[in-house]
Amino acid sequence: MLRLKTLHSRTFDRLRALFTNRAMPLFKILIDRTTSFFHSRFANGEPLRFKTLRSTIIVSFLGLFTLVQILTFYSVYTISTREVRTGIYNDLAGGLGVIDLKLKSRAENLSTAAEVLSRDYSFKTVFASRHRPTLLSAMKNQATRIQADVMLLVSLKGMVIEDTAHPGARPTAFPLPNFFTDAGKTDVASTTAYLDDKLYHLTAVPLRAPLPVAWIVFGFKIDDTLARELKMLTALDVTFTADRPGQAPAIAASSLSGELRDQISAALRSSGREPDGTMTFVLNDEQYLGMSHDLSTKDGAQIKVLMQRSMAAALKPYYRIRRILVLLFIGGVAVTLILGVVVSSFVTKPVRVLVEGARIIEQGDYTRTLPVLRQDEIGSLTSAFNHMQTAIAEREERIGHQAFYDALTDLPNRSFLDQKLQEAISKAREENRPLALILLNINRFISVIATLGHETGNAVLLKISVLLRDSMPPSAIVARMGGDVFALMVPGEDDNGALRIVNDIATRLEAPIWVEGAPIQIEARFGIVTYPVHGDDANTLQRRAEVALHLARSTAHGFAVYSPDQDRHSIHHLTLLSELRHAIDNDELVLHYQPKIHFASRRIIGVEALIRWRHPQHGFIPPDDFIPLSEGTGLIKPVTFWALKTAIRHCAQLFEQGIHLNVAINLSARVLPDHQLPDAIASFIDEFQLSPLQISLEITESAIMIDRQRTLEVITRLDSLGVQMVIDDFGTGYSSLAYLKNLPIDEIKIDKSFVQKMDVNENDAMIVRSIIELGHNLGYKVTAEGVETDRIYEMLRERGCDVSQGYLHGKAMPLEELMVWLEQSPWGRKRPAG
Ligand code: C2E
Ligand code: CA
Ligand code: CA
Repeated sequence: MLRLKTLHSRTFDRLRALFTNRAMPLFKILIDRTTSFFHSRFANGEPLRFKTLRSTIIVSFLGLFTLVQILTFYSVYTISTREVRTGIYNDLAGGLGVIDLKLKSRAENLSTAAEVLSRDYSFKTVFASRHRPTLLSAMKNQATRIQADVMLLVSLKGMVIEDTAHPGARPTAFPLPNFFTDAGKTDVASTTAYLDDKLYHLTAVPLRAPLPVAWIVFGFKIDDTLARELKMLTALDVTFTADRPGQAPAIAASSLSGELRDQISAALRSSGREPDGTMTFVLNDEQYLGMSHDLSTKDGAQIKVLMQRSMAAALKPYYRIRRILVLLFIGGVAVTLILGVVVSSFVTKPVRVLVEGARIIEQGDYTRTLPVLRQDEIGSLTSAFNHMQTAIAEREERIGHQAFYDALTDLPNRSFLDQKLQEAISKAREENRPLALILLNINRFISVIATLGHETGNAVLLKISVLLRDSMPPSAIVARMGGDVFALMVPGEDDNGALRIVNDIATRLEAPIWVEGAPIQIEARFGIVTYPVHGDDANTLQRRAEVALHLARSTAHGFAVYSPDQDRHSIHHLTLLSELRHAIDNDELVLHYQPKIHFASRRIIGVEALIRWRHPQHGFIPPDDFIPLSEGTGLIKPVTFWALKTAIRHCAQLFEQGIHLNVAINLSARVLPDHQLPDAIASFIDEFQLSPLQISLEITESAIMIDRQRTLEVITRLDSLGVQMVIDDFGTGYSSLAYLKNLPIDEIKIDKSFVQKMDVNENDAMIVRSIIELGHNLGYKVTAEGVETDRIYEMLRERGCDVSQGYLHGKAMPLEELMVWLEQSPWGRKRPAG
C-alpha cells in the first residue's frame, strides 16, 4: 500500500517536473511558432479571424484535440524514454555488481586454495627439495584443481621460481614487484594485470614454513570466455578494456563479436558521459547506454569492465505504443473533423437562421417571423429576435405614418399630397380628365387661438377636418398643409366642379362649429386651380393655388380661381425676403401718412404711418405682402425700428414747422416681446426731442391676446414711456373686457370691417355703437378706421366716436403730399398756432 502510494506520488512529481520543465517551454515555442506563421501569412499584422462561427468551432475542436494528443504523445515519449533509461541503468549497475562479486568470489576461492596449499606439508616438502620438475608437476596439479589458468611461485625477493605457463624457464623478476606489499599485510592480495600480453586476474598468498618462504600466485584469464560467461549471468554484453602506459588502448576481452567488437573502441572514444555515470554511444547506428567500472591494477594500467545495452532494443515495446498513438491521432483527427462539422452545423444552424433573418430585416422586410424550434438560449434569442422585428416594423410604420400624416387631424400632410398630386396628374393625363386642387385657409384663425386657446383651436381644426372629409367624394384627398391651411385634391373636377365643392363647403361652414358648448363662427377662403388649365405639373399647380388663395383675400365671396394676369402676386417669397434685407439700406422703404380727424373740431389731429416698399423691379409692394412674411423671419425687427425712427423724425420735422401732429406707428405682434423695443423708442424720442404724447403705438387686438402675461409687461413698460397705446383692429379678436381693463390703454380703433358697411348692415352698426360705448366706459378714446363716406362719418359722429380715419379724409400719402393736403384739405387746416 505504502509502496503504491510512494510510487504514485513519484510518478506525479515526475509528471509535474516534466510539465514545468519541458512541456511549458515546449508550449511557448509551439504558440510562438504558430503566431509567427500566421503573422507571416497575414502580413498586414491583423490577427487571424475566422469568417464563420462554423470554421471557428471546427478549428477549435481540431486544435484542442491536437493539443491533447501532442501532450499525450510527449508524455508517453518522455516517460517511456526515462523508464527505459532507468531500467537500463539499473540493469547495468546490477550487472557490474555481479561482475564485481564474481571476481571477488574468485579471488576468495584462490586465496583459500593458496592458503590450503601453503599449509600443505607435502607441497612444502617439494618446494624445499627445489626439484623443479616435481615442483612444476605439483603446481600444475594444484592449478587444475582450483581451475586457475596459471600458477607461479615467486621468491620473497620477487624472482619467479617456477611458472606453469613457462615450465623450466630461467628465473626472471616478477613484473609486479609491489603486488606483494599488500599481501604481506593481509596475507592475500588481488589485482588485474597483463602477463605475457594476456590479461589475468591474479591472487597472491604467502607460502609459510612456518615463516613465509615464497609467494604463491594464481591467475585467471580475463578473456572472451569469461566475458561470455558474465553475459550469461547478467544478460548484458561485457567488455574489458585496457589502457596501458605506452600502448594503444585495446579490447582485452568482450562478449561482443565481429563488427561490434571492432567498433566499440571508436564508439567509446566518442562517447558522452551522463551525470548519473552512464555513457551514451552509438554502435552500428544504434544508440547504446553503457556503464563502466575500473578494476584494480598495480602497474599503472587502466582496466575497465564495461557493460552496455541498446536503447532501441529496450524501447521496442514502447515503439508499438507510439505507433498506436500516431494511428490514434490520425484517426482522431478524422473523427474530430467529422464531429466538428456535425456539431458546428448543429450549433450554428439556428444562428445561421438568425443571421439570414437579420439580413432580410436589413433589406427592409419585417414580415417574416423565424420559427422558434428550440427551448434553449437560441430559442429565446429567436423569439426575442421576432419581437424586435415586430417592434421595428411597428415603429417604422409609425414613423412612416408620421411622415405622411398630420398628428392632430390624422389627415395626409403636405408630403403625402405632393406625392399623390403628381400621381393623380399622370393618371388624369392618361384618362384625359381634369383635376381640381383647392387650398382652403381659415380666416383669422389666429384670433381663435388667441381668444379661446390652443386646445379649442385644435378642436376647431379637427371638426373642420371631419367636415371636409365628409363633403368630399371618396376619390378626393383632404390634406392639412400646416397651420390653418387645408388642401383638397379632387380628380375629375374642372373649374365648375371645384366651385360647386367650394360653395358646398362654404355653406356647411355657415353653421357655427360647437366646441365645449360654445358656437364658433368660421369663415374660409379658397384658392382654386385645375389641371390642365392652370398647369400640368404638381409644382406649378400648388404654387398657383397659393396665388389664387392669396387673391381670395381681397374678394368679397372669399374664393378665387387662378388667373395668369394676376400672377404678379406669385413673386417668389424667398427672393422677396432676401431683397427686403437690402430694402432698408437702399431707401426702398418709405412711410406714407394717413390723416386722423378729430370729430369735435373736424380737423386733423394726427397721422398713421403706413409702410410702403418701392421695389426697383416689382414696383409697389403693399405691406400686407411683405410684413406678414418678414414676421416669419427676424426681419420684422429692423423694419419696425426703421419705421419708428423715420416716423419720429418726420414728426419732429413737422413740429419744427409748427405742425403739431400725433404720429401712430404699427407694432407687429412679433416685435412686441423684444426687450430692446422700449429702450429704442425712448432713445428715438429723446434724440428728436419730442414729447412722448405725440407718439401712438398701434397693437392689434389679436397680438395682445397671444401671450397675455408678456404683453401686459411690455405694454406697461411702453406706456410708462408716456406714449399713447392704441388697440388696433378692435372687434376682430376676442379679447375680454375684464382683461382689457387691466391694460394701460389710451385708445381703441374699431376695425374697418365693421365700419365700412355700418350704413347698410345693422349688425355692424350695432357692434360699432357698443364698442364706442364700451370704450368710453373704460375711459378710452375711440377711433374708427375705414371711413369712406360722409354718411358713415355722420353716423360715427352721432354715436360719439372721437376720431375718424379713412379715404373720406385722405389715403396714406408721402410726407410732401401730406404737407400739401394739410394746406388744401378742409380737414387739414393747421390748428391756429398757440
Ligand atoms: P392697419 O394698421 O389696419 O392699417 C390700415 C389699413 O387700412 C392701411 O392699409 C390703410 O391704407 C387702409 N385704409 C385706410 N383707410 C381706408 C379706407 O377708408 N378704406 C379702405 N378700404 N382701406 C383703408 P395698408 O397701408 O395697406 O396697410 C395694411 C396693414 O399693413 C396695416 O393695417 C398694418 O397692419 C400693416 N402695416 C402698415 N405699415 C406698417 C408698419 O410700419 N409696421 C407694421 N408692423 N405694420 C404695418
Ligand atoms: Ca394700424
Ligand atoms: Ca386697423
